[in-house]
Order: sequence, then C-alpha cells, then structure tokens
Amino acid sequence: MPTELPPAFTFSQSSLQDFADCPRRFQLRYLLAQAYPAPVAEPLAVLDDSVERGERFHRLMERYWRGVQLTEQTDPLIADLWQAFLDNPPANVPQTFRRPEFSVNVKPAWANGARLTAKYDLLAYDPDGEALIIDWKTSRRLRRDILERRLQTILYPLLLVEAAPRLFGTPLPPERVRLLYWFGEDGGATESFAYSSSRYIDGRSYISALLARLRALEVDEFPLTADLHHCRYCQYRSLCEREEVAGTFEPDDAEFLPDLDELRDLIAAAAADEDFVL
Ligand code: SF4
Repeated sequence: MPTELPPAFTFSQSSLQDFADCPRRFQLRYLLAQAYPAPVAEPLAVLDDSVERGERFHRLMERYWRGVQLTEQTDPLIADLWQAFLDNPPANVPQTFRRPEFSVNVKPAWANGARLTAKYDLLAYDPDGEALIIDWKTSRRLRRDILERRLQTILYPLLLVEAAPRLFGTPLPPERVRLLYWFGEDGGATESFAYSSSRYIDGRSYISALLARLRALEVDEFPLTADLHHCRYCQYRSLCEREEVAGTFEPDDAEFLPDLDELRDLIAAAAADEDFVL
C-alpha cells in the first residue's frame, strides 16, 4: 500500500532532515505518531538545560527584535549568550522589514502538491538590498561543510524565494538572499551562506527527489538507516533494537542531534500526549 501523509501535512526542515537521515524515523515520528520510548540522550539534565537555554534565548531575541525595552536583570541561565550577542551582534541587518519568529508556508508546483514551511528566527529585508535570514544557535559552532549539507540551509532560502512575491509583492532573485547562523556558545561567531540561482535549482531538485522517494515507499518498507551515528541520539533506539549505540549528550556533537529548536517543539507536542514518557 502506498504511503499516505496525514491531511494537510506540512514538511519542515526537521521532518525532511529526519527522512534524509532515516526513513524509519520519519515514519515513526510523523506517520505513526509514535510516543517517545527513550530519551534522546543521557544525561537528561544536560539536555534539558540546553533545550531550556535555547528556548529562553529565542524568547529574548524575539523581544529584542520586536523592539521591546529589556530592563529586567539578565536571566542567569542565558547571561553568557546575551553577553555574546551584545559583544557580537550580526552586522548589516536590513532595516526596512524585520520580523522575528516569522513563518512562511508554500505549496510550489515543483513539490507536486506538498506543503513546505520554514520558521525563521529573524527575517530582515530591504527592498533595494538583501533579504537576510538569521538563525540563532545556542550551541558551539558547527563545521561549515556540515551546515551546508543540512536541510535547513537548503530549505530556508529556497522557501523565501518562493514566498517573496506574496510576502514582498515582488520576486526575489536568489542572489539577494543570505542565511546567517549565529553561535552563542562561540561568542557570537557566525557562518554566512550567500544564496544563488544554481543553489536554488539544486535545492528544488534535491527536495523534490526526497519527496518523490518518500511517496514511492510502501507503508511497510521504510528502511532503518545504515548509519548508526543517527541512532546515537534517536529516541526510537529501543524500537529498532539499536540501544547499544546510545549517546551521552555532548553539545559539540551536533551533527547527529536533532536541531534543538525543533526538539523544543517536538517535546512540547509530545508533552501534550498522555503516552509521553521522556
Ligand atoms: S534508532 Fe536508528 S534506525 Fe531507528 S528510527 Fe532512530 S535513527 Fe532510525
């Protein structure tokens, strides 16, 4: 039987990354809504701290970029991140249009009916200049080649180009889009990815191929990943009998971790589920 997605299912960078890393994880998480039989990593306290720090820092950034006057004492859990931001804020942020925590949703023809979404930590745009997407990472800096491969880097600028006519009232040439990652635990270090027409075309091809591969799978043939690194931080280890590779959470070991932003959303969704056991 061919795979059917839940009604109005919307692909995010996280769900696409799950499918790219391990089709079985995508199936368990999004098609079967499987509860969480194991923590992502041990020890939980370290993970909780990282998730909580991420959440508080994102809330702080949202207020800052909305122009809220920040007069209260700095939250001690994120004091170092706030200081890193004050010392090294992103430079040359466009001023005309600034929206923190901003989502775009598109259903492009090339995605063959699939809905796609991106949630930007900050989107800034000048009609005569660039469109800048900023993503706050509270982790250490990731290697550029790892970031370059991630679905977030592929999807975020692509969806902005797709959404631009509706959003800004005019098409946006890919060459005017830039994605910037900011790393709080590295003192505000950044990695910048200039977008281009060739990246846009490659990104469309890659994502439509992923979607076609997913649609072609029968419900009983979602394969387990052959790369056990992906299992180290996967909460479905026990279901897949891959518990022996369980990871001890290392903030530096981010390549195989789910994005902490997305993890916060997943934990919130799972917490609403009475079978939630994390
Ligand atoms: S434990 Fe490994 S094989 Fe199983 S869903 Fe997770 S990543 Fe995939």
